[in-house]
Amino acid sequence: DATVEDGPIRMRSYDLAVTPPEERNGLLRRPVLKSEEMMNKVKPIVDDVRSRGDAALLELTAKFDKAKLTSTVVFPPFAAETMAVEREVGEAIKTAYANIKKFHEAQADGATLRVETMPGVVCSRFARPIARVGLYVPGGTAILPSTALMLGIPAQVAGCREIVLATPPRPDGSISPEVMYVANLVGASAVLKAGGAQAVAALAYGTESVPKVDKIFGPGNQWVTAAKMLVQNDTDALVSIDMPAGPSEVLVIADYTANPGFVAADLLSQAEHGVDSQVVLVAVDLDEAKLAEIEKEVDVQAHALSRVDIVRKSVSKSIIVKTRSVQEAIAFSNNYAPEHLILHLENASEQVKYIDNAGSVFVGPYSPESCGDYASGTNHTLPTNGYARQFSGVNTLSFQKHITSQEITQSGLRGLGPVVATLADCEGLEAHANAVRIRLKELN
Ligand code: NAD
Repeated sequence: DATVEDGPIRMRSYDLAVTPPEERNGLLRRPVLKSEEMMNKVKPIVDDVRSRGDAALLELTAKFDKAKLTSTVVFPPFAAETMAVEREVGEAIKTAYANIKKFHEAQADGATLRVETMPGVVCSRFARPIARVGLYVPGGTAILPSTALMLGIPAQVAGCREIVLATPPRPDGSISPEVMYVANLVGASAVLKAGGAQAVAALAYGTESVPKVDKIFGPGNQWVTAAKMLVQNDTDALVSIDMPAGPSEVLVIADYTANPGFVAADLLSQAEHGVDSQVVLVAVDLDEAKLAEIEKEVDVQAHALSRVDIVRKSVSKSIIVKTRSVQEAIAFSNNYAPEHLILHLENASEQVKYIDNAGSVFVGPYSPESCGDYASGTNHTLPTNGYARQFSGVNTLSFQKHITSQEITQSGLRGLGPVVATLADCEGLEAHANAVRIRLKELN
């Protein structure tokens, strides 16, 4: 109703010291995704693409993206007019590309690890690129050349042989020139004009025209996420995924040194992503006046945004958690395991050593999340929903896998062989023991 639509845009507040334990746990929880329900909706789409290939892909693209295509894949060289961007945008993309590439090149594992575990027993480990990768760049509600950069650069740096970039076409059948510009920069070997579950299925199984891939990366809506989870469980597809993804999140920790305008802007830059965005402010011993200043900034800045309607919904679900100390604030954040963590703290860089769980950390008042989202060099495809406890964000190693090897000399086998034979006997695996004994016999 009109009164609610025009009212102040406010977060809900909790004082951690007086919040009972069960309610505290509630503060850590994200809205539950109804994954089973989504799986059931996505499965017929995935099955259709798997069995009917391109014909299904074209029909589904007409149905969901309103684009009537005759072919779904574009191969390089891409026509110049399909990637014509404004000069300023092209320059910005190039600077972002250079920074992201520099940081991701430093992450690549190029060296062979070699360890002599016993005399004459040498174990090694070396990295190889995943040959064929699929990059999903969302395109339903916004164009996201930044996501194309974040997925394409580490794939290029790792040396993946085939890079298939999938993104939903616009109703006229085209892909935004900014995304095509990036596809070209990162050396994409094909661009798939399809979105949602149908694009994921095409990447997982391949079609007459879409090359099958070995690993699928990238964020997306619940159709994309459910399809990724479905295909990774299908042994026929033999495909892996980067990580389970959910709505984007930020947790901001602020103490008395924080600039209220900066804090509000950081909270809102996350809140504008979508109505399901998660925004948390952890206040460190802030007096009521300072908190009121931040809340006022949130309200004022939010009303000036073009996405105010989205922000109104996401902010109304967002929370302020009041804590007494930095330690208490960081402990809460470690439990929450945010995708993005911003530190508006005195001596912020001193606090980083206490951070155990977070996708990416933004340290100090002049490090807004936006910089990491676009161009500083770090990746923006990060674990959400508390998965920062056990997942890393997308990085160059996500596009590589490791192979181990061993080379054992004759004298090495004299030393190690009896140990192995004893353990094989103990497990009752005679053939294993024999493989060692037949050699030891020949050596004696
Ligand atoms: P999208 O490309 O993920 O999804 C669009 C596709 O969804 C369509 O092509 C269509 O195939 C499918 N779809 C939509 N409604 C459907 C229906 N009723 N039935 C079947 N299929 C349907 O784009 P989007 O929808 O704009 O979502 C983008 C998502 O990606 C957002 O949730 C956003 O927060 C997230 N995102 C996350 C990051 C990150 O790094 N975490 C970055 C960018 C975007």
